[in-house]
Amino acid sequence: MMASKFLRVKCRKCKNEQVVFERPSSSIKCLVCEEVLAEPTGGKAKIKTDVISKV
Ligand SMILES: [Zn+2]
Repeated sequence: MMASKFLRVKCRKCKNEQVVFERPSSSIKCLVCEEVLAEPTGGKAKIKTDVISKV
């Protein structure tokens, strides 16, 4: 099986759920409140909020 490439996360601030890339090249922000959800590291993202599941 291929490794998962996306994560479903939930914004701690506004509870919005969205799918984010596991290895982003730039910060990922909540689409609703613009809270930073994940930061790039060059590898797997540093997730700054709650991960619900892999996609
Ligand atoms: Zn939010």
